[in-house]
Amino acid sequence: MKMTAILATALTTMIGGAVAQERQTGAVKAPADVRHITPELADYTEKLLFGQVWERPGLSHRDRSVVTVAALIAGGKTAQLTGHLNRALDNGVKPGELTAAITHLAFYSGWPNAISAVTIAKDVFDKRGIAQSDLVAAADERVKLDAKSEARRAASVDRAVGTVIPGLATYTNDVLFGDLWRRPDLSPRDRSLVTISSLIATGEAAQLPFHLSRGIDNGLTKTEISETITHLAFYAGWPKAMSAVPLAKAAFEGVQSPAPARKAEGEVEILRSGSQPDSVGAPENFTGKVRVGSRFQRTAPARISGGIVTFEPGAHTAWHTHPLGQTLIVVTGAGLVQHEGGNIQTMSAGDVVWIPPGVKHWHGASASSGMIHIAIAEAQDGKSVDWLEKVTDEQYRMHHGASQLKMKP
Ligand code: MN
Repeated sequence: MKMTAILATALTTMIGGAVAQERQTGAVKAPADVRHITPELADYTEKLLFGQVWERPGLSHRDRSVVTVAALIAGGKTAQLTGHLNRALDNGVKPGELTAAITHLAFYSGWPNAISAVTIAKDVFDKRGIAQSDLVAAADERVKLDAKSEARRAASVDRAVGTVIPGLATYTNDVLFGDLWRRPDLSPRDRSLVTISSLIATGEAAQLPFHLSRGIDNGLTKTEISETITHLAFYAGWPKAMSAVPLAKAAFEGVQSPAPARKAEGEVEILRSGSQPDSVGAPENFTGKVRVGSRFQRTAPARISGGIVTFEPGAHTAWHTHPLGQTLIVVTGAGLVQHEGGNIQTMSAGDVVWIPPGVKHWHGASASSGMIHIAIAEAQDGKSVDWLEKVTDEQYRMHHGASQLKMKP
């Protein structure tokens, strides 16, 4: 057996074995072969992970078990699951809550992960004599969610997802939030804990801001979220925990100063990064993948609006005009811009591009590199853009051919 294989086997035995041993003696002991091969890991496991991390205040043993089990299932780390399902039951997680968490994770980390976890859970439940009747929630009623925030969430899904992928929007609103999140066998707070753990464990940062805010709305404290992220550094790895830090910071700041729908006169308004979902460029106005984030629109007498637009390689707008012109500030990448009758021009990070009023034009990424620009335009009679026909592939390729010629060594 190769050394790496021996180590992998030893580690697998260690986590499961260590947990089993703790139930009997009250302290976690790494198995002798682990200590023999890597004494420093054995020390970290006993003294740091189980001796300190699991004992930190701010997140209960029960919640740490929920977080750990969610991270293992979402990450497909089934070798450690038997030990941690047993530990979760010892820490007071109810069998029905574990099965509800597994079902919940089918949606957030995929059916295969959930089905694999079911097989292991059945074995654990059988060995502990847990009957199927212990798993069924007593009441079949649905949990009431906050109507106002649900309406806001559903509208945002309809707007951002429904116009592009209608089927996904329907299941998101009707099944995921309309049914799963309202099932009584796991509280909304615990569902948030499971979801956040799963997102961090799988590195799905794009969904985190929404779910961190939702978790706070569902009763998770900042300390609990902070401890969850610290705990997950050990079970999902440092990089994933570190990536969650700025998103948690934004979510925490959102809690300190909830943004009212309308700011009082004279107050500074900060639209926090990541606080609203990106919208997807409408397929009739864009070619390729385009996302618009940090979208803003000022009310009269101000008339400025805009956002940060991300074009994937090859993505670009249709032909269009702006009644009062448009300013583009390139943030990163390699971009292209053309006014009707002119040559396609390149633009790159730091360039500021002025599109005069009424001039027919298009802009976007080059074929080989993505591009992000800030777009700012003033509205005339409430309108800041008039969309025209799409740019044909032939028109877009005009630059591609020219630049290849130029770039020949
Ligand atoms: Mn434009």
